[in-house]
Amino acid sequence: MGFLAHSDVVPVEPGTEKDWAFDAFSGKIAEGFVWDRGTLDMKGTLMAVMEAVETLLNKGFSPERTLYLAFGHDEEIGGQNGAAQIAAHLENQNVRFSYTLDEGMVVLDPDLSPTRKLLGVIGVAEKGYLTLKLKTRGQGGHSSSPPLRTAIGTLCKAATRLENKQMPATLAGPTGSFFRYIGPDMPFGKKLLFANQWIFKPLILLTLKKSNTTNAMIRTTLAPTMIQGGVKENIMPTRAHLLVNFRILPGDSVKKVVEHVKKVIHDDAIEVEISQNIISEPPPISSTDSKGFFNIRKTIAQVFPDASVSPGLVIAMTDSRHYTNISDNCYRFAPFVFSPKDIPRIHGTNERVSIEGYTRAIQYYIQLIKNCAGKE
Ligand SMILES: [Zn+2]
Repeated sequence: MGFLAHSDVVPVEPGTEKDWAFDAFSGKIAEGFVWDRGTLDMKGTLMAVMEAVETLLNKGFSPERTLYLAFGHDEEIGGQNGAAQIAAHLENQNVRFSYTLDEGMVVLDPDLSPTRKLLGVIGVAEKGYLTLKLKTRGQGGHSSSPPLRTAIGTLCKAATRLENKQMPATLAGPTGSFFRYIGPDMPFGKKLLFANQWIFKPLILLTLKKSNTTNAMIRTTLAPTMIQGGVKENIMPTRAHLLVNFRILPGDSVKKVVEHVKKVIHDDAIEVEISQNIISEPPPISSTDSKGFFNIRKTIAQVFPDASVSPGLVIAMTDSRHYTNISDNCYRFAPFVFSPKDIPRIHGTNERVSIEGYTRAIQYYIQLIKNCAGKE
């Protein structure tokens, strides 16, 4: 199996440095935490894996099967020179993993968990990624006598149409499994709802569409993120473009998204171009019936005895997608308990990991290695 991690971190947003309780790159240990950019995403995991391996080596532990530690250095910008190269190298050596374990999901504390109890979520899938560039031309000239149809107006109309006619929502795939797993632990009314998905599907989807986070779990999302056109306030732009970022649900594809967009905007004046920056088809969904899933789950039960466990969908991208060719399954789970207060710290201000949580993560990896690779 392969333990995946990335050693790079996102920058500290300029102007927010002074909002940190301790210097953002100091690694300061204070008040029961290690404070540093990257402690949650994801040096805490990377270091905990290494400390677990070192602890076991010092005890003379020898695994029966081969374990790989594969750490990339550029996940935050796509992983092309890190994870993608490591995976290609391993493929050349004919290395094949039974499974990989990477970041993506965590243990949700009762305030964050829909069951209001500790819940370990093992990411069995992640969304794909695509940006489309919608380009159009306009009649130039003076803005005092504008044409009825303008380049920017055309793009705004397209964006509105896309927002009004989204890709379909579904409970198939990992999100459906998530709710089936946690259903029995839900409060009574919701338990009834989720235990009978076949009857209440429309009602469940309606509820999930209401929050940005749950909406992202049930459909391919679209986000118009950049619009450009025009050089001066009194000149009509002759060209303009709009970037729309898509996060593709497993089951959808780049082709389906492009077809949907063309159909919905229904405008010959707009050219739809695929941005070549990052394109990722949603990777295959990993099994919940494999030795790997079983081991990760069993180890959660051993190290977090109060937690129940479910599979889930990671709505962002991880380096795991580079390993799908050489791994039977890819799981995304880091053994850290997250509360609602931790979420804004990821890629945000005052990122920190608790010493207690970090120590528990080391225990988790020691136990997992023993469970999956050991003689003990
Ligand atoms: Zn990360």
